[in-house]
Amino acid sequence: MPSATCVSCQGQRPAALVRPKTSEPYCKVCFFEAFEREIHETIVNEQLFKPGETIAVAASGGKDSTVLAHVLKLLNERHSYGLKLVLLSIDEGITGYRDDSLETVKRNQQQYDLPLIILTYKELYGWSMDEIVKAVGRKNNCTFCGVFRRQALDRGAMKLSVNKIATGHNADDIAETILMNILRGDIARLKRCTSIITGDESDENEGSVIPRCKPLKYAYEKEIVLYAFYKRLDYFSTECLYSPNAYRGNIRTYIKDLERLRPSSIIDIIHSGEQVLVKQTAKMPVQR
Ligand code: SF4
Repeated sequence: MPSATCVSCQGQRPAALVRPKTSEPYCKVCFFEAFEREIHETIVNEQLFKPGETIAVAASGGKDSTVLAHVLKLLNERHSYGLKLVLLSIDEGITGYRDDSLETVKRNQQQYDLPLIILTYKELYGWSMDEIVKAVGRKNNCTFCGVFRRQALDRGAMKLSVNKIATGHNADDIAETILMNILRGDIARLKRCTSIITGDESDENEGSVIPRCKPLKYAYEKEIVLYAFYKRLDYFSTECLYSPNAYRGNIRTYIKDLERLRPSSIIDIIHSGEQVLVKQTAKMPVQR
């Protein structure tokens, strides 16, 4: 723990942490304020929500979606956004992972007093992820799962008649995706992976039925962990059994190394990605 005083309240309180985003010493109170204020600014500047909308928070029980649900509820009340919030969870059917994390979501439902709907792959598609992996082996599991989950979220969102789905993608996730798409030469995905809202009328390529938004787009993963830790939020932190995606894993490690050298690297990658202009003549894959 740093011995310095907080730079934000100018020495009124001792620092409790060093902000990963800025490397400055902060007390807990000022860190909470800064973290929440920045998410509020993202929501306002990017016009993520309109008064009266119903927003489904895609809730997995992990740190990102738990912090998202907590902060959205808090900001909705503090700034009178006029939103109706609901939790939407997808049970992929992964024993020892999703069953445990859903218990966390159920507790979050009580803690935040929000409605919750859980949809299962088994009910929707007749197959759980455990059964799919048994049939196809441990290869490309996330590809199957990702497609199913996108559809499942849409179906859940339609069931709940929501206007938008808010997901817990953070700045590190987006920086990883930008680099991954550059390295793979995936121009179509590169073009849209920086968008804070996808699947709306301005996004002809996304293919989702319900628009999705990422209020944590500029929030660093390390700050999300610190916020959840100091706020004592109830979240689940085990990795999915089928997750190892070697390519993304390498990029994640690379970004963490860059962050150690220069904390602004994550935001810099996002800003660079946002400025990339894709030529009109660029060949796009046709979505099937
Ligand atoms: Fe599905 Fe892959 Fe996520 Fe596991 S890590 S829940 S298999 S997308």
